[in-house]
This record gives sequence, C-alpha cells and structure tokens, in this order.
Amino acid sequence: MSDRTYDYVIVGGGTAGSVIASRLTEDPAVTVAVIEGGPSDVDRPDVLTLRRWMGLLGGDLDYDYPTTEQPRGNSHIRHSRARVLGGCSSHNTLIAFKPLPSDWAEWAAMGADGWDAASMDPYFGKLLNNIVPVDEKDRNAIARDFVDAAQEALGVPKVEGFNRKPFHEGVGFFDLAYHPEDNKRSSASVAYLHPYLDRPNLHLLLETWAYRLEFDGVRATGVRARAADGEELVVRASREVVVCAGAVDTPRLLLHSGIGPREQLAGLGIDVRHDLPGVGENLLDHPESVIVWETRGPIPENSAMDSDAGLFVRRDPESAGPDLMFHFYQVPFTDNPERLGYERPAHGVSMTPNIPKPRSRGRLYLTSADPEAKPALDFRYFTDEDDHDARTLVDGIRIARRIAAAEPLASWLGREVCPGPDVTGDEELSEYARKAAHTVYHPAGTCRIGAEDDAMAVVAPDLTIRGLEGIRIADASVFPTIPAVNPMIAVLMVGEKCADLLAPAGDPKEAA
Ligand SMILES: Cc1cc2nc3c(=O)[nH]c(=O)nc-3n(C[C@H](O)[C@H](O)[C@H](O)COP(=O)(O)OP(=O)(O)OC[C@H]3O[C@@H](n4cnc5c(N)ncnc54)[C@H](O)[C@@H]3O)c2cc1C
Repeated sequence: MSDRTYDYVIVGGGTAGSVIASRLTEDPAVTVAVIEGGPSDVDRPDVLTLRRWMGLLGGDLDYDYPTTEQPRGNSHIRHSRARVLGGCSSHNTLIAFKPLPSDWAEWAAMGADGWDAASMDPYFGKLLNNIVPVDEKDRNAIARDFVDAAQEALGVPKVEGFNRKPFHEGVGFFDLAYHPEDNKRSSASVAYLHPYLDRPNLHLLLETWAYRLEFDGVRATGVRARAADGEELVVRASREVVVCAGAVDTPRLLLHSGIGPREQLAGLGIDVRHDLPGVGENLLDHPESVIVWETRGPIPENSAMDSDAGLFVRRDPESAGPDLMFHFYQVPFTDNPERLGYERPAHGVSMTPNIPKPRSRGRLYLTSADPEAKPALDFRYFTDEDDHDARTLVDGIRIARRIAAAEPLASWLGREVCPGPDVTGDEELSEYARKAAHTVYHPAGTCRIGAEDDAMAVVAPDLTIRGLEGIRIADASVFPTIPAVNPMIAVLMVGEKCADLLAPAGDPKEAA
C-alpha cells in the first residue's frame, strides 16, 4: 500500500481537472496530485486529431455507459465518457460556446451566488484554449450552402463568430477549440497540461482509478485508488480534495463513499457517511433527433470534424434564449434510424434538431455496492409534463425540411431517407424523433450548486460539498441547469473559477 501526501488531490484529469491542476501548480510551493483513470494523450494522434473523434466512441478509451430502459425515448443510447488525460475534451468535437447571459442568470436564480454572467465573463477571457471559428479551408461547400439555405428559409441572421456577442438565433460555422493548421485538438490537456508537464510540483497518477474518498469525521483527508498494476494507493490531501470525475463518475464516487441519499445507500449495504439527497439527481442532457438526406453524389472531403456548422432558432419570442438548435452533419448519421429499419445511404447529410433547455429531469443511482459496477443512468428522456421536449423535436424536423427545400442546399439533396417524406403527422413525427433520438454527450447536473436552504443542492456556490470539509466538486455535475449551448466552455470556466476559489486567503500573489 503506497501512502503519499500532497497539498491538493484532484480526482479526474479531465476537462475541469486539467484546468485546476494547471492553475494550482503555477505556484511552485503548491503540490498537486491528479488521479486520472486513463492514460496520457501525449503523442497520440488517434486522440489529438480532432477529426478522428468518431473513432474513439465505444473504444478502449471510452467508459461507455448504457442508459436504463427509456419508455418514451431510445433505450439504446450509449453515453461516451473519455478515459484519457483531458477527459471528454480529448474525445469530443470541441464546439466552443461561451454560455449565454441567460444561462448564467438561471444558475444565479437557483441560488448559485457569484455565478451570474457579469461574474463569470472574465473566466472566458482567461481560457488558454485556442478558440477560433472553423477555418476557411475546413468549410465544406455543402455546409456553406446549409448556412445560406437556413438564412433564406428562416430569415435568421448569418453569424460569423458566435462568441462575439450573445444571440437568440442565427446560423453559421461554429467556433472550435482547435489548431486549424494540423487539426490538432486544443483540449483541456493540450492547452493546460502539455506545456507544464515538467513542473516538479505536478504529479499525474495515470491509469489509476479512485474508488473511495477518505474522511476523518466530516473532513476529507484523501482518496483510495488502484493503479493499473493493481497497486493500492492512499493519496492524502493536506489542503483539499477536488473531485472532477465528470457528471457520471463524480456522483458515483460520492455514492460509493457513503455520500448520497440515505435510503439508496442503506438499501445497498453502503455505510451512510453523509445523507445528501441530491447526489445523482437532476441528471440533464441535450438529446437530439436526426433527419437524413441522401445527396446526389459524394460531398467534398474537407472539414474540421464533420459537423462544423449549426443553427439556433427561437420559436417562442418570450424565451430568454434559443429554444431549438441544430447541428449539421456532413455525414449520414443513421446509427439509430438503422435500428428502426432505415438504410444508410452511400452519400448523405443530416440535420439534428436539439433541445437547448430540456425540461425532463433524470437520475443516476447505484445498483450495487461494488465500485466496479457501472451506475444506472435514467435520463427519463421526453417525460416532461407538457411534452415540451418531444414537441421541440417535431418542430425541428419540420423546420429542417423547410431548410432542405431552400436553395442553395436543395440542389444537393436527392431524397429524404429518414424519417421519410410520408411521415408528416405530429404523432408519427414524435414517435420517430424520440425512438431515433441520440445524445450529444452532455450529461450534467448530478451534484448541483444551490443555496443553503435548497435540500437537493450538493455543493454550495463556493463548490464545497454541503456538510463536509476539505472537499469540493468542479465539473459538469455542478451545473444547476444546462446551458442552451454546448457545455464544454462552461466546464472550463467552472475549472477556472474553482482554481480562484482555492487560492488560499492571504495568498501573497493575490495581495500583490
Ligand atoms: C463524444 C463527445 C462529444 C462532445 N462534443 C462536445 C462539443 O463539441 N462541445 C461541447 O461543448 N461539449 C461537448 N461534449 C461534452 C463535453 O466534452 C463535456 O461536457 C465536458 O468535457 C465534461 O467535462 P468534465 O470535466 O465534467 O468531465 P470529463 O472531461 O469527462 O473528465 C472526467 C475525468 O475524470 C476521469 N475519471 C472519472 N472517474 C474517475 C475515477 N473514479 N478515478 C480516476 N479518474 C476518473 C476520467 O477518466 C476523465 O478524464 C462532448 C462529449 C463527448 C463525449
């Protein structure tokens, strides 16, 4: 049994964890251990080349979590979660959106004091990632024509640089965190860790799995972990433990450490250390459906990552932000429709209506006291009372058809493959959209921030776990609500803010 002590122990060298490890070790007097379940991404073109992202899904570097039976949705959805330094930012498509002011306002309204847009804006400016619009050479002709057709059909503005100012609607090429010259990722690990790997105070414990948090009374003292060779480790924190294992593995680790809803833990024979009913609740995601067209011939090859442009629509003028989003894929994305009997065309494109503010709320829970058993993820897709989520997808399919009928996109398209032009009624469109739904891998919210009187909050606005000491959470699990836009930048900003919160009071650097 190895027993080591550092000032800070970070569980998870993923998106937020990389930011925090990097910022804390700027001070050479501070020692930091990062316990990361996966290997390094250094010298791994399969990971570092953005356009190879699809090859990582379901592979060796994916924890690959199933969902529970979804009576109103697609029960076959698998949730990719990356097992590699940089976490999901080493695995994702790196679409980079600063959250909208209305996203932060929702957090503040839910008791996240200090997380309003004005307080959070400076953290976007601090990000070290190379965030740039999709490069001209990567702009595929059919994606350009999608942008023009959407503008023509819907009258939405064409946006060049979505992060320049807040928007309610618009169509254009995304900003990405990448290096266009060689398509290299500008992931959290590339931007925050690779330049600093030689810092003597930064200790990366790779391929090491944290399976229990250690406490002395209510104070967290460290983490129990197992290395790839089976060696057992106790990694102690003289200052704080920071859990950054992501929206699935953070609540999972807490639950296995006896922190969570008493009934669930007791029912599985796990000693209850701290009854915290919100752990694993409020499971959020951005589900989307898909409409696929066969194209009249092959599409040009150039692209940054095969889904380089998108569209935001505000159907309800009262909505604080966009209420329907689309990714445009330069590939026929038929994985789920094929299960329903559709065939993949040789050449094709997809539009994917996505729900920016889903109202359905899910839940993550354990089914076994064995830390190796995967937790159950019940997203409860399309279960909201007024059917807002399914209706958004139905509207989305109809809007997608209007865009497809508009030039200059229309002349590229041969036939609608799925759901197919004969599927037109509300009921049948809803049935198709829900059963063919997939995820864009944005689980969040399972250890949410909230005010002191909010019984379901897991962390306080300073990210400390309620009722415990010496331990914080910083990753997508702390989101009270999901931003209308893709969440990675919000996670990086959570990391930056956490690093600020950890700066010890009276730090001479701060006083200077
Ligand atoms: C395929 C895919 C595409 C996506 N596309 C986009 C996109 O284009 N834009 C966008 O904004 N968002 C996108 N996302 C979502 C975004 O990447 C995530 O929301 C974000 O990266 C989550 O960051 P995190 O810090 O919460 O968790 P992660 O980045 O997942 O970090 C968690 C880390 O903890 C480690 N870990 C977990 N448990 C343990 C343990 N017990 N012991 C040790 N280590 C552990 C993991 O190995 C991982 O490195 C995508 C996600 C995926 C998977």
